[in-house]
Amino acid sequence: MSDFKMLIGGNLVAAEQTFEVINPADESVAGYAPEASDANLDAAVSCAKQAFLTWRYSSNEERGKVLKAIAKVIKDNAVELSELLSLEQGKSQSQAQREVQQMAGDGAAARAAITLEPEVLQDDEQFRVELHHRPLGVVAAIVPWNFPLGIAIGKLATAIMTGCTVVLKPSPFTPLTTLKLGELIKDVVPKGVINIISGSDSLGPKLSGHPDIAKISFTGSTETGKRVMQGAAADLKRVTLELGGNDAAIVLQDIDLQKMAYPLFLGAFINSGQTCVAIKRIYAHEAIYDDLVNALAFIASQVKVGPASDPESQLGPVQNRMQYDKVMSVLAEVKANAEKGEGRIVAGGETHTGKGFFLKPTIVADVKEGCRLVDEETFGPILPIIRFSDVEEVIQRANSTSYGLGGSVWSSDVTKAAEIASRLESGSAWVNQHPNLTPFVPFAGAKHSGMGVESHQMGLKEYCQVQVVNIAKSA
Ligand code: NDP
Repeated sequence: MSDFKMLIGGNLVAAEQTFEVINPADESVAGYAPEASDANLDAAVSCAKQAFLTWRYSSNEERGKVLKAIAKVIKDNAVELSELLSLEQGKSQSQAQREVQQMAGDGAAARAAITLEPEVLQDDEQFRVELHHRPLGVVAAIVPWNFPLGIAIGKLATAIMTGCTVVLKPSPFTPLTTLKLGELIKDVVPKGVINIISGSDSLGPKLSGHPDIAKISFTGSTETGKRVMQGAAADLKRVTLELGGNDAAIVLQDIDLQKMAYPLFLGAFINSGQTCVAIKRIYAHEAIYDDLVNALAFIASQVKVGPASDPESQLGPVQNRMQYDKVMSVLAEVKANAEKGEGRIVAGGETHTGKGFFLKPTIVADVKEGCRLVDEETFGPILPIIRFSDVEEVIQRANSTSYGLGGSVWSSDVTKAAEIASRLESGSAWVNQHPNLTPFVPFAGAKHSGMGVESHQMGLKEYCQVQVVNIAKSA
């Protein structure tokens, strides 16, 4: 029996079946989540469809009020939510607390200020032409396991502020915090506007394939994103896809290492490297290469990795067995290559013997393209540092990937760094930081890193259909 229930049409609903959610720090059962039946799924979509009939006509003020009420609920229950988030996701207490605080602030409350207003395109004696953005309908929001609450709130807030309704499905690896959120917001959201259902394996395709879904907002891997898009084609469902990345950070020779080594480390290892816009490759100029490798290796050696139950832990485990096995197979290749003299592990890399999916921050120097660690998205706490000598050449190397989510350039010369950053083939290009995302700035993936935009008014437009109202004034 699960302690957690789904939110369907304003009611908390138990399921006949449940599934286990595993604590990645010790592989024990963190809780049981409801396994939505086909009837639960149909009920959630039907309630969302019914609620859309009125919610679509709500004012921006009403929508903002609901969002602020959700923000207050998150704030009032921050301790419970962040503890649950640490338990099921594995992230440290401080990281979980930060994610929850941000969701109460920037994630929810601040988004109440991001609205779409009608535009008047023409207004003369003959015609008045207005441009409106009409909500699409029921949105299927499919959320991954790395930032369960943060990504869910972004999608929910966008649906609310556009007048859409939503059926949200958390990852089967991390459903508990989201289900708890559903329980907590039940009475501050109009019935049916937000529905939250959980399930394993087949629920995602069933939800995104449901004929009454108008739009799919998916965050996850590029491979699954392609399948989501294929499935959406049958009904011409709109899609926003936020997918994987292989972000490069280019570090120029004039960098202030004292100041920048720690932000570079965090950019790669925050959330134990399980962040779509984490730094996945560092290209360091040969003049500072050894100093940077040593600085990052030193920081890595000082970081405390452990279970979130230990308040001193700074980084937690990899979130799930499947992902851990993937990271460990990349590490095995790194070790085999190192034995052949191709690359060397300068920090971390030790095999963890107890329970839990732990790997200390692992830094690999003297590698180059042509191995999985550099060419693929590992999505774990393991980072390659690659040597370069020529800026023109390194831009090409940074861009020679099918991904294009983020990228950054690090230098004391901000103008030069910005010029180089502008030549990265990525949706976001940062200077002396990586990443920096806010609801007020568009977030988009180039190439295979996504389709469409999240955040900002541009993100809202993705949940809307353009309608032009063209009035001939002569009756
Ligand atoms: P996936 O991207 O494969 O996503 C799995 C989720 O997608 C599940 O919740 C699944 O739901 C759902 N899903 C599967 N097929 C469909 C479909 N046709 N329509 C709708 N939903 C569908 O993530 P994984 O957990 O398998 O992780 C694999 C890789 O993804 C990682 O190694 C990492 O590289 C990347 N990743 C990227 C993230 C990001 O932030 N961009 C976040 C997490 C992972 P169900 O189980 O209910 O079917």
